[in-house]
Amino acid sequence: MRSTLTVPRSSLVAPRVVGRYSQAREGNLVLVFGGIHGNEVSGVLALRAVFRHLEATRPSFRGKVVGISGNLAALAAGQRFIDNDLNRHWDAEGIRRLRGQSPETPSSSEDREALQLLQTIDAELGEDGPWTDRIFVDLHATSAGGGGFSIIHDAEANREIAARMHLPLIFGIEKKLQSTLMSHLYDRGMNGVVFEGGRIGSQEAIDVHTAGLWTLLTSLGCLHPKDVPDYRYQINRMIDAAEGLPKAVRTIYRHRIDPEDRFRMLPGYRNFQPVLKDQHLGDDAYGPVLAPLDALLLMPLYQEQGSEGFFLVEAVDY
Ligand SMILES: [Zn+2]
Repeated sequence: MRSTLTVPRSSLVAPRVVGRYSQAREGNLVLVFGGIHGNEVSGVLALRAVFRHLEATRPSFRGKVVGISGNLAALAAGQRFIDNDLNRHWDAEGIRRLRGQSPETPSSSEDREALQLLQTIDAELGEDGPWTDRIFVDLHATSAGGGGFSIIHDAEANREIAARMHLPLIFGIEKKLQSTLMSHLYDRGMNGVVFEGGRIGSQEAIDVHTAGLWTLLTSLGCLHPKDVPDYRYQINRMIDAAEGLPKAVRTIYRHRIDPEDRFRMLPGYRNFQPVLKDQHLGDDAYGPVLAPLDALLLMPLYQEQGSEGFFLVEAVDY
């Protein structure tokens, strides 16, 4: 059964920084982003739950965690974005352009958001910290159901962060998607993952994001398991979310779309669903869209806004 959650939009008019918690100036700095896409509210809600608990119980904490809200205007509007995708502003040229903009007269709603985010990131990274590692997690959700997973740039440190949350690994998407926040944070020397929590609007995505954050913070040694609400549940939630999924997959095809294509995915597809060459996946202005090869489907598009209809991946040894 699918449960769809109704979150009052007024409750999502969040401050840029959802929370900041630290008890000892040693250990790791962890920056967690939620709602870079404004209709993916699970990340913001998970961050709120984590910070509410930390503030209420004030446990000892080795390192520092900061929760950052992404597209505030789009979160308030319940849309993926207002003018353009906030997750496509972050290449070197885009950053140069943003830094040259006046904060009072940005050229789009997302330019305003990106500039504020950039200043928030600058402030957190610029602070002289004694931090061992600077780690990020970027929380997202997909318009199709089917498991939590992580998108990473393939490096040992990033694999390790995903493994701490028991998340399947997706390799190669970062090469097909330039100018994401993830690539910017890598360029600044951070390690981290994009963490897809599940279907947009589902309670599952909130639970998986929340469990993943508790699991990560504990595994990094920031928190003692006894200070996490129902630690066993949180670990098992992550293990359950990955059950039956490949440990790692490689991206082999990206179905790029433009609005004039009028692409429509056929209903019922899920993340990691096997498809066969020539299988009918959707339709667009030019006719049926068929799978170009045997593969596993990833991120089939079931929302209006988006520039990829779907990805195809294959399991790899890991
Ligand atoms: Zn997203």
